[in-house]
Amino acid sequence: MFESLSDRLDSAFHILKGRNKITEINIAESVKEIRRALVDADVSYKIAKQFTDTVKEKALGSDVLVSLKPGQLMTKIVRDEMASLMGGEAADFKIEGKPAVVLMSGLQGSGKTTFSAKLANYLKTKKTRKPLLVACDVYRPAAIDQLHVLGEQIGVDVFSNKESKDPVEISKAAIAHAKANGHNLVIIDTAGRLAIDEEMMREIKAVHTAVEPNETLFVVDSMTGQDAVNTAKAFNDVLDYDGVILTKLDGDTRGGAALTIKAVVDKPIKFVGTGEKMDALDVFHPSRMADRILGMGDVVSLVERAQEQFDEEKARDMQKKIAKNQFGFDDFLDQIQQIKKMGNMKDLMGMIPGMGKMMRNIDIDDDAFKHIEAMIHSMTPEERTNPSVINGSRRKRIARGAGRDITEVNKLLKQFADMSKMMKMMQSQGGKRNMMNMMR
Ligand code: GDP
Repeated sequence: MFESLSDRLDSAFHILKGRNKITEINIAESVKEIRRALVDADVSYKIAKQFTDTVKEKALGSDVLVSLKPGQLMTKIVRDEMASLMGGEAADFKIEGKPAVVLMSGLQGSGKTTFSAKLANYLKTKKTRKPLLVACDVYRPAAIDQLHVLGEQIGVDVFSNKESKDPVEISKAAIAHAKANGHNLVIIDTAGRLAIDEEMMREIKAVHTAVEPNETLFVVDSMTGQDAVNTAKAFNDVLDYDGVILTKLDGDTRGGAALTIKAVVDKPIKFVGTGEKMDALDVFHPSRMADRILGMGDVVSLVERAQEQFDEEKARDMQKKIAKNQFGFDDFLDQIQQIKKMGNMKDLMGMIPGMGKMMRNIDIDDDAFKHIEAMIHSMTPEERTNPSVINGSRRKRIARGAGRDITEVNKLLKQFADMSKMMKMMQSQGGKRNMMNMMR
């Protein structure tokens, strides 16, 4: 995400390396490079210029922070300004109502249908809502089928009426259906066209007036850069929506839309889509996003994701097993499953400060653990609970079963043994001292 912008900003800060103090002259080049980087990231010249003027002014007026080197100071100022450009605080999301109604708008292909389902899935699990998805695209029967498929996948009911050609009628019927069936949240996916046209605007406006949504959201493909910003403006003029959803951020290397939408339409980005899977949705936090753009990682989101997957009872169980030296390969497998639930590995690595850049050209496939899992799956239950029984011939059999080389099995067993030793030391009295001895 945003790799090219991150790299360019990094070199802009690098210009100040070795300087002791910020002066009008020595930051000129750095500021110019930041502006160029923003323009190349598809930020309009006007916004880029305003941005760098503010950055420059703050940098020159901030000699109080003597403990920071000029490069660090610029990084901090740019980070804070970026967060403020993107809206400062995370925006709230109104889902109170009986039922609460969320209306989706946007062009065809922007990711509306996918996001509608992701949102239903998110609110169902995180906010214990009972959502109803509504298929309101009266032009493309395939779009209705798509929503039904996604609904089934996430276990959420979908309301549609292929007989009707009137989105207002469908939406009203859907809300009545929701009330009658105990749904406290209705998410309406509307039709989109390939480009803005009057008919589409009239239609969505009519639905908007009829259902009085609690939240009207505009969905846009972040990879379309300035076009995304222009479309956002056109929809806002008609709908005066509550928030923006930026999709396909996983493929966006430039970041112009994320940076400027708020400044142009004065509406917050509420969520971002980061993949095609149903859990690839993040609440948008401007300051965390700024950190990610600057390659500083996003430890807070990482910890949050970990907490979401964290099963307290399991953790206590695990601790007991470690204490009794009973931690086996099944437990190891369990841990791997938990990590995998947190999301795509490369994405996770990018949340660790400095790691994103290091991992940029390294190919981590989505299933980085698959070989380890295959080897564990080729072990017998006895071997998993008591790895010490795994002798030479067993190793050969495990390697054959997993389709891996025996050296990989040896490596896994060695690492597992080291890990168990380490866990035991950490548990035992004076663990810290033992650890120190081991490190020597
Ligand atoms: P709609 O026409 O606006 O309803 O768009 P769809 O929901 O059908 O999405 C269009 C395409 O974009 C589909 O192939 C989706 O799988 C894909 N898509 C949607 N959101 C994302 C995202 O956040 N990341 C990626 N990589 N693909 C996405």
